[in-house]
Amino acid sequence: MTKQEIQQEQALRAFSPALELPLRHVLLRLADAPPQVLLLEGGAESARTALARWWAALFNCSARSAQGPCLHCPDCLQIAAGEHLDLIAVDGRISNKEDEENPGPVRALTMERIQILRRQLGEAPHGAGRRVVIMAGLEAQIRTAAANALLKTLEEPPEHSVFVLLAPQREQLLPTLVSRSWVLTLPWPATAEVTSTTQEWEDALAHFLEEGAGWFERTAVRGLELACVQDLVLACQKALAAVLAGHATDRGLARCFAARLDAHGLYAAGALLGRMQDALQYTVNPALAADALATELYALLRTSRN
Ligand SMILES: [Zn+2]
Repeated sequence: MTKQEIQQEQALRAFSPALELPLRHVLLRLADAPPQVLLLEGGAESARTALARWWAALFNCSARSAQGPCLHCPDCLQIAAGEHLDLIAVDGRISNKEDEENPGPVRALTMERIQILRRQLGEAPHGAGRRVVIMAGLEAQIRTAAANALLKTLEEPPEHSVFVLLAPQREQLLPTLVSRSWVLTLPWPATAEVTSTTQEWEDALAHFLEEGAGWFERTAVRGLELACVQDLVLACQKALAAVLAGHATDRGLARCFAARLDAHGLYAAGALLGRMQDALQYTVNPALAADALATELYALLRTSRN
Protein backbone atom coordinates (compact mmCIF):
# COMPACT_ATOMS: atom_id res chain seq x y z
CA MET A 1 0.00 0.00 0.00
CA THR A 2 1.26 3.48 -0.82
CA LYS A 3 1.50 6.16 1.85
CA GLN A 4 -1.46 7.88 0.28
CA GLU A 5 -3.58 4.74 0.39
CA ILE A 6 -2.72 4.25 4.04
CA GLN A 7 -3.72 7.84 4.79
CA GLN A 8 -7.00 7.37 2.93
CA GLU A 9 -7.77 4.26 4.87
CA GLN A 10 -6.98 6.02 8.17
CA ALA A 11 -9.21 8.92 7.16
CA LEU A 12 -12.09 6.65 6.32
CA ARG A 13 -11.72 4.94 9.68
CA ALA A 14 -11.59 8.30 11.47
CA PHE A 15 -14.70 9.64 9.79
CA SER A 16 -16.77 6.48 9.41
CA PRO A 17 -18.60 6.58 12.79
CA ALA A 18 -19.98 9.96 11.65
CA LEU A 19 -21.09 8.76 8.24
CA GLU A 20 -23.95 6.69 9.63
CA LEU A 21 -25.41 9.63 11.55
CA PRO A 22 -28.38 11.47 10.05
CA LEU A 23 -27.22 14.43 12.21
CA ARG A 24 -24.74 15.18 9.43
CA HIS A 25 -27.61 16.72 7.50
CA VAL A 26 -28.36 19.07 10.38
CA LEU A 27 -24.71 20.12 10.44
CA LEU A 28 -24.75 20.66 6.68
CA ARG A 29 -27.62 23.08 7.08
CA LEU A 30 -25.94 24.84 10.01
CA ALA A 31 -22.63 25.25 8.22
CA ASP A 32 -23.48 28.45 6.33
CA ALA A 33 -24.05 30.34 9.56
CA PRO A 34 -22.43 28.05 12.12
CA PRO A 35 -23.07 28.46 15.84
CA GLN A 36 -20.04 29.76 17.73
CA VAL A 37 -20.19 26.80 20.09
CA LEU A 38 -21.58 23.42 19.12
CA LEU A 39 -22.09 20.86 21.87
CA LEU A 40 -22.28 17.24 20.77
CA GLU A 41 -23.65 14.97 23.49
CA GLY A 42 -24.95 11.41 23.63
CA GLY A 43 -23.85 8.50 21.49
CA ALA A 44 -20.50 6.79 21.77
CA GLU A 45 -17.32 8.79 22.26
CA SER A 46 -15.99 7.59 18.89
CA ALA A 47 -19.11 8.93 17.16
CA ARG A 48 -18.84 12.32 18.88
CA THR A 49 -15.19 12.67 17.91
CA ALA A 50 -15.80 11.57 14.33
CA LEU A 51 -18.70 13.98 13.90
CA ALA A 52 -16.62 16.85 15.32
CA ARG A 53 -13.88 16.11 12.79
CA TRP A 54 -16.44 15.84 10.01
CA TRP A 55 -17.68 19.31 11.06
CA ALA A 56 -14.09 20.60 10.91
CA ALA A 57 -13.63 19.05 7.46
CA LEU A 58 -16.84 20.71 6.31
CA PHE A 59 -15.23 24.13 6.77
CA ASN A 60 -11.81 23.29 5.43
CA CYS A 61 -12.27 20.73 2.63
CA SER A 62 -11.18 22.18 -0.69
CA ALA A 63 -13.46 19.83 -2.63
CA ARG A 64 -16.63 20.06 -0.56
CA SER A 65 -19.88 19.07 -2.26
CA ALA A 66 -23.54 19.35 -1.31
CA GLN A 67 -23.09 16.07 0.59
CA GLY A 68 -20.29 17.45 2.73
CA PRO A 69 -16.50 17.20 2.79
CA CYS A 70 -14.85 14.92 0.21
CA LEU A 71 -12.88 13.02 2.89
CA HIS A 72 -9.87 12.44 0.63
CA CYS A 73 -8.32 15.83 -0.21
CA PRO A 74 -5.16 16.84 1.71
CA ASP A 75 -7.19 19.02 4.12
CA CYS A 76 -9.60 16.18 4.91
CA LEU A 77 -6.74 13.72 5.39
CA GLN A 78 -4.95 16.10 7.77
CA ILE A 79 -8.12 16.68 9.77
CA ALA A 80 -8.68 12.91 10.04
CA ALA A 81 -5.15 12.53 11.39
CA GLY A 82 -5.65 15.48 13.76
CA GLU A 83 -2.77 17.32 12.08
CA HIS A 84 -4.53 20.14 10.26
CA LEU A 85 -3.19 23.60 11.15
CA ASP A 86 -6.68 24.98 11.64
CA LEU A 87 -7.82 22.13 13.86
CA ILE A 88 -7.08 22.43 17.56
CA ALA A 89 -8.07 19.63 19.91
CA VAL A 90 -7.78 19.53 23.70
CA ASP A 91 -8.96 16.98 26.23
CA GLY A 92 -9.27 17.62 29.96
CA ARG A 93 -8.61 13.95 30.69
CA ILE A 94 -5.03 14.11 29.41
CA SER A 95 -2.63 14.82 32.27
CA ASN A 96 -0.01 17.56 32.00
CA LYS A 97 2.71 14.96 32.47
CA GLU A 98 1.38 12.78 29.65
CA ASP A 99 1.11 15.85 27.44
CA GLU A 100 4.70 16.97 28.09
CA GLU A 101 6.22 13.54 27.63
CA ASN A 102 4.30 12.51 24.57
CA PRO A 103 2.39 15.38 22.95
CA GLY A 104 -0.13 13.98 20.44
CA PRO A 105 -2.58 15.69 18.11
CA VAL A 106 -4.95 16.11 21.09
CA ARG A 107 -3.41 18.18 23.88
CA ALA A 108 -4.05 18.52 27.60
CA LEU A 109 -6.27 21.34 28.76
CA THR A 110 -3.83 23.41 30.80
CA MET A 111 -3.83 27.12 31.61
CA GLU A 112 -0.81 27.46 29.39
CA ARG A 113 -2.60 25.73 26.51
CA ILE A 114 -5.62 28.00 26.87
CA GLN A 115 -3.36 31.05 26.76
CA ILE A 116 -1.72 29.74 23.59
CA LEU A 117 -5.18 29.03 22.23
CA ARG A 118 -6.37 32.56 22.92
CA ARG A 119 -3.33 33.96 21.11
CA GLN A 120 -3.96 31.65 18.15
CA LEU A 121 -7.59 32.70 18.01
CA GLY A 122 -6.52 36.29 17.62
CA GLU A 123 -4.83 35.42 14.33
CA ALA A 124 -6.51 34.56 11.04
CA PRO A 125 -6.76 30.83 10.19
CA HIS A 126 -3.94 29.35 8.12
CA GLY A 127 -6.20 28.18 5.31
CA ALA A 128 -9.25 29.59 3.58
CA GLY A 129 -11.73 27.88 5.95
CA ARG A 130 -12.48 28.23 9.62
CA ARG A 131 -10.45 27.30 12.62
CA VAL A 132 -12.19 24.57 14.61
CA VAL A 133 -11.45 24.00 18.29
CA ILE A 134 -12.57 20.61 19.61
CA MET A 135 -12.76 20.25 23.40
CA ALA A 136 -13.44 17.01 25.23
CA GLY A 137 -13.09 15.84 28.81
CA LEU A 138 -14.45 19.13 30.16
CA GLU A 139 -16.44 17.32 32.83
CA ALA A 140 -13.18 16.65 34.67
CA GLN A 141 -12.26 20.32 34.53
CA ILE A 142 -15.30 21.86 36.14
CA ARG A 143 -14.61 24.81 38.38
CA THR A 144 -10.94 24.89 37.62
CA ALA A 145 -9.07 27.94 36.50
CA ALA A 146 -8.79 26.42 33.02
CA ALA A 147 -12.56 26.16 32.70
CA ASN A 148 -12.94 29.80 33.67
CA ALA A 149 -10.33 30.88 31.16
CA LEU A 150 -12.14 28.79 28.59
CA LEU A 151 -15.40 30.59 29.36
CA LYS A 152 -13.65 33.92 28.83
CA THR A 153 -12.52 32.71 25.42
CA LEU A 154 -16.08 31.81 24.51
CA GLU A 155 -17.27 35.22 25.66
CA GLU A 156 -15.13 36.99 23.09
CA PRO A 157 -16.02 35.02 19.98
CA PRO A 158 -13.10 35.20 17.58
CA GLU A 159 -13.89 35.63 13.92
CA HIS A 160 -13.40 32.63 11.63
CA SER A 161 -13.27 30.20 14.57
CA VAL A 162 -15.86 27.79 15.92
CA PHE A 163 -15.82 25.58 19.00
CA VAL A 164 -17.09 22.04 19.45
CA LEU A 165 -17.60 20.69 22.95
CA LEU A 166 -17.93 16.93 23.38
CA ALA A 167 -19.57 15.32 26.40
CA PRO A 168 -21.56 12.17 27.15
CA GLN A 169 -24.33 14.33 28.63
CA ARG A 170 -24.75 18.09 28.79
CA GLU A 171 -25.48 17.87 32.53
CA GLN A 172 -21.80 17.06 33.03
CA LEU A 173 -20.70 20.51 31.88
CA LEU A 174 -20.90 23.86 33.62
CA PRO A 175 -24.36 25.29 32.88
CA THR A 176 -22.67 28.47 31.65
CA LEU A 177 -20.91 26.43 28.96
CA VAL A 178 -24.14 24.72 27.92
CA SER A 179 -26.05 28.00 27.73
CA ARG A 180 -23.57 29.29 25.17
CA SER A 181 -23.89 26.17 23.04
CA TRP A 182 -26.00 24.85 20.23
CA VAL A 183 -26.70 21.34 21.53
CA LEU A 184 -27.08 18.31 19.27
CA THR A 185 -27.78 14.89 20.77
CA LEU A 186 -26.35 11.87 19.02
CA PRO A 187 -28.43 8.72 19.06
CA TRP A 188 -27.46 6.25 21.74
CA PRO A 189 -25.27 3.48 20.34
CA ALA A 190 -27.44 0.84 18.72
CA THR A 191 -28.19 -1.72 21.38
CA ALA A 192 -31.03 -3.14 19.37
CA GLU A 193 -34.05 -3.92 21.47
CA VAL A 194 -33.53 -4.51 25.16
CA THR A 195 -32.74 -8.18 25.47
CA SER A 196 -34.12 -10.17 28.33
CA THR A 197 -30.57 -10.63 29.67
CA THR A 198 -29.98 -6.88 29.82
CA GLN A 199 -33.37 -6.41 31.45
CA GLU A 200 -32.45 -8.99 34.08
CA TRP A 201 -29.21 -7.16 34.90
CA GLU A 202 -31.02 -3.84 34.94
CA ASP A 203 -33.55 -5.18 37.44
CA ALA A 204 -30.78 -6.69 39.53
CA LEU A 205 -28.96 -3.35 39.64
CA ALA A 206 -32.13 -1.48 40.62
CA HIS A 207 -32.73 -4.05 43.35
CA PHE A 208 -29.16 -3.67 44.62
CA LEU A 209 -29.41 0.12 44.65
CA GLU A 210 -32.56 -0.15 46.77
CA GLU A 211 -31.66 -3.01 49.07
CA GLY A 212 -27.86 -3.19 48.98
CA ALA A 213 -27.99 -6.93 48.31
CA GLY A 214 -27.99 -9.52 45.58
CA TRP A 215 -25.45 -7.98 43.24
CA PHE A 216 -22.00 -9.41 43.91
CA GLU A 217 -23.22 -12.99 43.96
CA ARG A 218 -24.51 -12.40 40.45
CA THR A 219 -21.37 -10.89 38.96
CA ALA A 220 -19.19 -13.49 40.70
CA VAL A 221 -21.11 -16.52 39.50
CA ARG A 222 -22.42 -15.52 36.13
CA GLY A 223 -19.69 -13.31 34.78
CA LEU A 224 -20.54 -10.51 32.41
CA GLU A 225 -19.91 -9.73 28.78
CA LEU A 226 -18.46 -6.29 28.08
CA ALA A 227 -21.42 -5.50 25.79
CA CYS A 228 -23.80 -6.24 28.63
CA VAL A 229 -22.00 -3.80 30.97
CA GLN A 230 -22.07 -1.18 28.22
CA ASP A 231 -25.82 -1.74 27.87
CA LEU A 232 -26.18 -1.42 31.62
CA VAL A 233 -24.36 1.95 31.70
CA LEU A 234 -26.53 3.04 28.80
CA ALA A 235 -29.67 1.94 30.64
CA CYS A 236 -28.55 4.06 33.62
CA GLN A 237 -27.92 7.04 31.35
CA LYS A 238 -31.34 6.69 29.76
CA ALA A 239 -32.98 6.42 33.17
CA LEU A 240 -31.12 9.53 34.32
CA ALA A 241 -32.09 11.39 31.15
CA ALA A 242 -35.75 10.47 31.78
CA VAL A 243 -35.53 11.80 35.36
CA LEU A 244 -33.79 14.99 34.23
CA ALA A 245 -36.45 15.53 31.56
CA GLY A 246 -39.18 15.08 34.17
CA HIS A 247 -40.67 12.03 32.48
CA ALA A 248 -42.78 9.62 34.46
CA THR A 249 -40.45 7.28 36.27
CA ASP A 250 -42.22 4.25 37.56
CA ARG A 251 -39.62 1.77 36.34
CA GLY A 252 -36.62 0.31 38.19
CA LEU A 253 -33.54 2.46 37.73
CA ALA A 254 -35.36 5.70 36.93
CA ARG A 255 -37.55 5.32 39.99
CA CYS A 256 -34.43 4.75 42.12
CA PHE A 257 -32.72 7.87 40.76
CA ALA A 258 -35.83 10.03 41.07
CA ALA A 259 -36.43 8.97 44.66
CA ARG A 260 -32.90 9.25 45.94
CA LEU A 261 -31.05 11.93 44.00
CA ASP A 262 -31.38 15.68 44.45
CA ALA A 263 -30.25 18.12 41.75
CA HIS A 264 -26.63 17.90 42.81
CA GLY A 265 -26.85 14.11 42.96
CA LEU A 266 -28.29 13.90 39.44
CA TYR A 267 -25.41 16.04 38.22
CA ALA A 268 -22.91 13.80 40.00
CA ALA A 269 -24.58 10.66 38.61
CA GLY A 270 -24.30 12.04 35.08
CA ALA A 271 -20.59 12.65 35.61
CA LEU A 272 -20.12 9.18 37.12
CA LEU A 273 -21.86 7.45 34.20
CA GLY A 274 -19.83 9.45 31.71
CA ARG A 275 -16.62 8.35 33.40
CA MET A 276 -17.86 4.75 33.40
CA GLN A 277 -18.72 4.88 29.71
CA ASP A 278 -15.26 6.19 28.89
CA ALA A 279 -13.52 3.71 31.21
CA LEU A 280 -15.26 0.76 29.56
CA GLN A 281 -13.23 1.38 26.45
CA TYR A 282 -10.12 0.33 28.34
CA THR A 283 -11.44 -2.23 30.75
CA VAL A 284 -10.21 -5.79 30.70
CA ASN A 285 -12.60 -7.09 33.33
CA PRO A 286 -16.26 -6.30 32.64
CA ALA A 287 -17.49 -7.90 35.89
CA LEU A 288 -15.21 -5.64 37.96
CA ALA A 289 -16.39 -2.61 35.99
CA ALA A 290 -20.00 -3.61 36.69
CA ASP A 291 -19.22 -3.93 40.40
CA ALA A 292 -17.61 -0.49 40.39
CA LEU A 293 -20.70 0.92 38.68
CA ALA A 294 -23.00 -0.66 41.25
CA THR A 295 -21.00 0.38 44.32
CA GLU A 296 -20.35 3.94 43.18
CA LEU A 297 -24.01 4.47 42.32
CA TYR A 298 -25.02 2.88 45.62
CA ALA A 299 -22.75 5.27 47.54
CA LEU A 300 -23.97 8.26 45.56
CA LEU A 301 -27.62 7.40 46.22
CA ARG A 302 -26.87 7.22 49.95
CA THR A 303 -25.08 10.57 50.20
CA SER A 304 -27.04 12.71 47.77
CA ARG A 305 -29.82 13.89 50.07
CA ASN A 306 -27.67 14.45 53.14
ZN1 LIG B 1 -11.80 17.22 1.34
